[in-house]
Amino acid sequence: MLDFKRNSNWIGLFTAIIFAPLLPVNAQEKALVNTSISPYAKQISVDMDAVKWTDGFWGYWADVSKDTMAMNMLHIYENDTLSHGFLNFEIAAGYKEGRHRGAPFHDGDFYKTLEALVSVYASTKDQRYYDALERIIKVIADAQRADGYIHTSTIIKQRNNPEDAVEFEDRMNFETYNMGHLMTAASLHYRITGQTNFLDIAIKATDFLVAYHENATAEQAQNAICPSHYMGVVEMYRTTRNKEYLDLAGKMIDIRGMITDGTDHNQDRIPFRQQREAVGHAVRANYLYAGVADLYAETGEDSLMMALESIWKDVVTKKLYITGATGALYDGVSPNGTTYKQSIIQQVHQAYGQAFQLPNISAYNETCANIGNVLWNHRMLLVTGDSRYADILELSLINSVLSGTDLGGTNFNYTNPLRVDEDLPFTFRWNKVREPYISKSNCCPPNVVRTVAETHNYAYALSDNGLIVNLYGSNELKTSLADGSELELKQETDYPWNGEIKLSIKKTGQDPFAIDLRIPAWASQAEITVNGEKSKEKPIAGSYLSLSRKWKKGDVIELNLPMTARLMEANPLVEETRNQVAVMRGPIVYCIESPDLHKGRIFNVELPAAIQFIPVKKMVKGASLTFLVGQALLQGKSDWEGKLYQELDQKNTLKPINIRLIPYFAWGNRGESEMAVWMPLRK
Ligand SMILES: [Zn+2]
Repeated sequence: MLDFKRNSNWIGLFTAIIFAPLLPVNAQEKALVNTSISPYAKQISVDMDAVKWTDGFWGYWADVSKDTMAMNMLHIYENDTLSHGFLNFEIAAGYKEGRHRGAPFHDGDFYKTLEALVSVYASTKDQRYYDALERIIKVIADAQRADGYIHTSTIIKQRNNPEDAVEFEDRMNFETYNMGHLMTAASLHYRITGQTNFLDIAIKATDFLVAYHENATAEQAQNAICPSHYMGVVEMYRTTRNKEYLDLAGKMIDIRGMITDGTDHNQDRIPFRQQREAVGHAVRANYLYAGVADLYAETGEDSLMMALESIWKDVVTKKLYITGATGALYDGVSPNGTTYKQSIIQQVHQAYGQAFQLPNISAYNETCANIGNVLWNHRMLLVTGDSRYADILELSLINSVLSGTDLGGTNFNYTNPLRVDEDLPFTFRWNKVREPYISKSNCCPPNVVRTVAETHNYAYALSDNGLIVNLYGSNELKTSLADGSELELKQETDYPWNGEIKLSIKKTGQDPFAIDLRIPAWASQAEITVNGEKSKEKPIAGSYLSLSRKWKKGDVIELNLPMTARLMEANPLVEETRNQVAVMRGPIVYCIESPDLHKGRIFNVELPAAIQFIPVKKMVKGASLTFLVGQALLQGKSDWEGKLYQELDQKNTLKPINIRLIPYFAWGNRGESEMAVWMPLRK
C-alpha cells in the first residue's frame, strides 16, 4: 500500500542526473545502513536519531556509550604516548614531524572511533562530539593526497622520501580496509550532520579506488585484506547515488575470482559465487559476506544470494558458537584446497575451523569477527526480511560482542573463549584479562565502541506495510512510515532479563498499517494482547507476528516472551561439548565463574538434567544483571598432579551445591577468574 521506495528511487535517479553528486538528507536516509533506495531490500532501518534507549538493558549500554566509551577511545587515540592513531594523521598532514607508528590498520581503527562519535552525536546532539569531529576532520583532509589516496603510513613515508613508498605495494598495509572505514564513518557523518567536509574526503578516496580499479588485475584484488571497503563503497553509492561506486563494488567482487594463487584464509581460493562454506580468517570472511549482502541489496544478483545463504547455513548449523561467536581457531590448516603435499598445505589464522570444530578453551572468536557476524546478519535481515537473521544478530550482539568489553566500557577482549582454566601450563597469544588498549592490535576496542553506540539503529525497521520491531528494550521511537505519516511509540520492558514487553502508540496517522513483532526462535509460548485482548493472530516462534490495524493513539500491545532457563546441548559431532550442557535464558548465554563458587572448583560442578534455576538480580560494577541460582552437584576432590590419566574413583561421590551463574558477556568483571559455559550433565 505504501509506495515509498519506488518513488524515492525515481526521485533519486532524477536528482542524481540533474543535481549530482549530493542530495539533501531525507528522512529514512539517516540510518547506519541506508537501504531506502535499495531495490532488493525488504527492510529499511529507521533514522539514527529516531530511537532513544531509555532504561533497562540497552539503556545501560547507551549511557556507558555516551558517558564513557566513545570519548575514552578518542582520548586513547589522541594520547601520543599510548597510540599514534591521531598523531599519524597530524604527521601525514605536515603539522608535525615524525614517522608512522602503530599497526598498518591504525587509520581504520581511528575512523571506527570517529564513527562512534557520530553515532553518539546522532542520539545526544552533544556539541562536544560535533566539535571533536570538526577538529579531526580538518586534519584528515590535510593528510589526504591530492589524488584522493589516503593511508598515513604510505603518505608519511612519501613525505619523508617520495621514492620511498608507493601505494598498494604490500597487501598487508590494509589500505582498502582503512579507506572502507573512512567511507562508512563519513557517510554516517553526512547523514547525521548534513556537513560534507568528511564526506568530501571519502568521495575523493572512493574516486581514487574507482580510477585505480579501472583496469583491475588479480594483484589488485589481493589488496582486499579484511574488506570493510565493500560495505564502505556500497554505502558511498547510497550516499551519493554515484553509479560508479556501485560498479566498483561489483568489480571488486568479480576480480576476486581472477586470483590464481588465492587462499581459503583470504576467501579467494575460488570465486565468491562458487563458495558454499565459511572458511579462513573470520573477520575477513564476515566483512566479505556483509559487503556482498550490501551489493545484493542493490543488484539482486541471484548467484550472490545463493552463495550467501549457503555460507550462512554452513555457519549456523556447523560453525557458530552458542554465544553467536565465530572463528574458532587461533591457527590451523585450510579444510579445503589442501593436498597431501606438505609444502602446499595452506595455513589459516584467526579463522573458521572445520565443521563442528568448536573448542572452548582455545576458542579464538575475535571480537571483530563477532561484530562482523552482526554486520552480516543485519544486512541479510534488511535484504530478506527474515527474522532468523535478527535472531542471530541479537545472539551475537548480546553475548559475543558485549563480552568484548567490560561493564564500564573501558577494557577490552581480543578473543572470547568459552572456558578459562588457570591450570593450563601455557599462555595464549592474547591476554585473557580485558585491557584498556591492546597494543599489539587494537582493532577490536573501537569496533565494540562503535557497535555499542549503534545498537539503537538495529531496533526498528520500516517496510512497505509498516513498522518492524527487531530488537526489544525500553525506548522511544519517533519516525515516519513509508507514506510519510508520523509514528511515535514507547516501548517499556526489562528485556532481555524479563520477557514482558509493552508497546504504546503515542502518535499515529489515519491509515491502517502493520506492526511486525519478532518472535525469537526460542520463544515457543509467546503471548500477545492488543488493548488487553488476546490477539487473533497467533505468534509463531522464529517469525514475525504481523499486527495489521487502524492504530490510534493510546493503543497498547503487550508481548510476553517466556523466560525460562533452558539447558542446551550441542550436536554430538562437537567433540568438546560431549555430555555437557550450557544454560540459556531468553537470548542470554550463562556461564559459571569462580567468584560465584565458594567451595570446590567450577570444573567439578555438574548440572542435573532436572535442575531448576531461579533468576536473581544483582549489581556488578553499576550494571544490573540477572544471575541464575540453582542446586547442582559437586564432585569430590581428585588429585591430577603429574597425571594425564587415572582410574575412575568410584567412591568420589557427588554432593549437592548451590550455584550461581552469571551472563557470559559479563564474565571477568570481578577480577581474574576461571569460567566455563559448558558444564557436565548428570542425567
Ligand atoms: Zn579485532
